[in-house]
Amino acid sequence: MEPFRQNIRTIKGIGEKRAQALNKLGVFSLFDLISFFPRRYEDRSTVKPIALVQDGESVCITAVVADEPRLSHIRRGLDLVRLRAYDDSAEVSITYFNQSYVKNQLHRGQSYRFYGRMEVRGRARSLTNPVFEPEEGAKDRISVTGRIVPVYRLSAGLQQKGLRQSVRYGLDSCRGRIPEVLPLSVREAFGLPEAEEAYKSIHFPEDLSALELARRRFVFEELFVLSCALGARQQTDRAGIVLPKLDFNAFFASLPFSPTAAQRRAIDEAAADLASGRRMSRLLQGDVGSGKTLVAAALVWQCVRAGCRAAFMAPTEILAEQHYRTLSGFLAPLGVRVGLLTGSLRASEKRQVREAMENGTLDLVIGTHALLSDGVRFPGLALAITDEQHRFGVEQRSRFGQAAGTDPDSDLFPHVYVMSATPIPRTLALIIYGDLSLSALDELPPGRQKVDTFSVGSAYHPRLLAFIRKLCNEGRQVFVVCPKVEEEDADAEAAPAAVPEGPALLSAVEYADRLRRELPELRIGCVHGKMKSADKDAVMQQMLSGELDVLVATTVIEVGVDIPNAALMLVENADRFGLSQLHQLRGRVGRGQHKSYCVLVTDSESEDARSRMKIMCETGDGFKIAEEDLRLRGPGDFFGSRQHGLPEMHVADLGTDTETLLKSKEAADRLLAEDPALSLPEHAALRERVLLLTEKMDGTLN
Ligand code: ADP
Ligand code: MG
Repeated sequence: MEPFRQNIRTIKGIGEKRAQALNKLGVFSLFDLISFFPRRYEDRSTVKPIALVQDGESVCITAVVADEPRLSHIRRGLDLVRLRAYDDSAEVSITYFNQSYVKNQLHRGQSYRFYGRMEVRGRARSLTNPVFEPEEGAKDRISVTGRIVPVYRLSAGLQQKGLRQSVRYGLDSCRGRIPEVLPLSVREAFGLPEAEEAYKSIHFPEDLSALELARRRFVFEELFVLSCALGARQQTDRAGIVLPKLDFNAFFASLPFSPTAAQRRAIDEAAADLASGRRMSRLLQGDVGSGKTLVAAALVWQCVRAGCRAAFMAPTEILAEQHYRTLSGFLAPLGVRVGLLTGSLRASEKRQVREAMENGTLDLVIGTHALLSDGVRFPGLALAITDEQHRFGVEQRSRFGQAAGTDPDSDLFPHVYVMSATPIPRTLALIIYGDLSLSALDELPPGRQKVDTFSVGSAYHPRLLAFIRKLCNEGRQVFVVCPKVEEEDADAEAAPAAVPEGPALLSAVEYADRLRRELPELRIGCVHGKMKSADKDAVMQQMLSGELDVLVATTVIEVGVDIPNAALMLVENADRFGLSQLHQLRGRVGRGQHKSYCVLVTDSESEDARSRMKIMCETGDGFKIAEEDLRLRGPGDFFGSRQHGLPEMHVADLGTDTETLLKSKEAADRLLAEDPALSLPEHAALRERVLLLTEKMDGTLN
């Protein structure tokens, strides 16, 4: 039986009940079992003479039992077993609570090894409930003293002892046939121990350095297998529609500004993909305001010039409309016919747009997920672009990419271009979007001003009011963001007249009402998550058209709406937001020619909150902020839910094992270059593991 998939039930020593308990831990196959790594270890390797053990020290002693252990029933529910033991240096009294069975396991005159926490009171030494075993170690058992002992995650019906035993049986049963997934050359290059030894050491390490080596190997291995899995996907490139490369100079000349070097590079990279005959899958990362839309426009231009069609999907109606205006601005003068398809169009309008899509009178359609509705057909579609795709979730992303069958004459899928403003650290992007190529806009358009950022306490409120008044009198607009509170629909009228100063958590609605009282001369609007999207859009429209001076909102405005006239972003209870979120919010201002500000209000004294505010005030670099965010929060939280579809890492930490990640990725790429399908016999084990992981990943993706 192939050891990776062998059912644990068939392992010698593991019965039905034990197998069921292990199943509860997610352990089904022999491979699961030996890969069920300890949660932590207890270093019981030091053995000391009794007299040298300090008070509070946890070590092993080797001692002879001096008398027959005495069992006493103190009361119902309380039994004690007491005994004394000694070595050449001193004596110790030992007590077990409610473990009456030890009375029959410890025998006078025999030598045992005990492990526990020593208590020293003057000359009296004592141990309570120490772990023990015969000095010479018992056959058929795993020594639990005098060594580093693994501690596992447990399930009901399974104790440490049982688990250690099971793992031992597992290791025994695959002795000599643990498949090696890391090629010798890789192991040698990175100084990693071989599989069999590493599995032994990760469970039952001889010493700390063996454990460390084993851990290093498994971190590497995990990332290496992941890199191979993702790399292999990348290679299953399908053929793509050929969109011949253009000279973009004419296009650039038609723009009101000259593209940045970063924009030109991003355009070149994608344009080469489009012309390559292979299907493009590319991610464009660019901080807010870096000018991603222009890059998209250039690619649409290449597509349309080749006689094909393009679609552009945005996460909200407002954004779709904004893109519609911007892209029309860039492309309509060049003769590109641009349409808009959103859910809120009247049925007759929708029908019109769909008809135009079907009969070829539109070259580019911009829309929301309405683009994905059944019955939408877009013959000639060759390029599918999504903006802010992390908001769509993985499923929609793949569905959009597969909107192929739209062209009855072609079985080729459209090229996929994904644009994201979430500045995912490069290393993490490498993994998450391992199946996408990466372009980055690492440069803002010229003349962009830094958004001055300050962190203040809530006592500053009166001064902030004055600042808001001043800006609005100058014709600017202001965003105020409040964190979501549970009772967002709390009756605002019922709020006490004297609104508490301090950092009280006001909902957006309450806050807007308070502002209306404090700044009666200003026009103040409010959007929050509980509103219908049409109502939200209506308020956003008012803000866009300048009918509002101040917009109070929960984070709904995070999503890329461009209001160049907005000059202040005020974030209340800023400590409640993650770094990346704060950065996204700040990106809503400073988009025009006006000097812009971001003020973070918080009274939090916590270390973590302070360091976040400090980073925000010090840097405007989205990538740096994302790295910090990842460091502070860890990768699990980075994306909120596990939307990214990555398998869970067992040993590796995507936040900190960055260097290993890069190395393993390099090694994987080299290997795949030699043996793309991992079909060489020496790569069989690796291939099997990659398959296993791919099955798992596809499981999460669906
Ligand atoms: P993103 O979507 O990456 O946040 P946008 O595409 O909305 O950014 O661009 C932000 C603003 O910068 C827009 O007003 C756009 O017209 C402008 N812009 C884009 N590229 C340039 C450039 N090369 N020079 C000057 N302004 C630019
Ligand atoms: Mg944008």
